[in-house]
Amino acid sequence: MRRAGQVVREVLELVRSLVRPGATTLDLEKAAEERTVKLGARAAFKGYHGFPCVLCTSVNSEVVHGIPSAKRILREGEIVSVDFGAFVDGYCGDAAITVPVGEKIDPQTARLMKVTERSLYAAIDVVRPGATLGDVGSAVQRVVEAEGFSVVRDFVGHGIGTHMHEDPQVPNFGEAGRGMKLRTGMVLAIEPMVNAGKPDVVVLGDGWTTITADGSMSAHFEHSVAVTATGARILTE
Ligand code: MG
Repeated sequence: MRRAGQVVREVLELVRSLVRPGATTLDLEKAAEERTVKLGARAAFKGYHGFPCVLCTSVNSEVVHGIPSAKRILREGEIVSVDFGAFVDGYCGDAAITVPVGEKIDPQTARLMKVTERSLYAAIDVVRPGATLGDVGSAVQRVVEAEGFSVVRDFVGHGIGTHMHEDPQVPNFGEAGRGMKLRTGMVLAIEPMVNAGKPDVVVLGDGWTTITADGSMSAHFEHSVAVTATGARILTE
């Protein structure tokens, strides 16, 4: 799973380097697919319940599951969440980053990205044998809500292994001490989706692209994280 995680990291860093004003989200998709093939991995999203691409590219108020397109030209000041998964030798890795387009990101949006990433690491910090899923969710929620942002409830993280989506569900909210206890050997994809405004989301007519109901900006960060005897090991860094 570490090897799958390394492929995911390499592809995400490649995509990050290509995000700039004037690039299209399809440019990112093509580069990601080419690198995945070169690395001998299999992209996890393409064909998953009919999803057409290897990347999810979700711009601005798009929360998750945006579909790369030649028509979507990235512009200065926008943000794009890039989610990618890959299989190596039957095991899956899954991670996401949110990347600014250009330099002129408004301060509130820059803060949204920072807080979302910080909430992911707060959750990873509590991962150890005996901690609970409620500990993980409440760690995300505490960081996000203290900054006046909101956690998306309609989508959650997940267990990951020989399948991309395995039990248990890993909510980004909850009560400390509640829920399933973590055990050594479990691997979780922890993925806070955070809205600048209200938590409500809407799925568009394409059946995939999910946007904030109030039009506010949204950010998304994800790592696949193994539970070890000594705490968390991030497999996708
Ligand atoms: Mg995931």
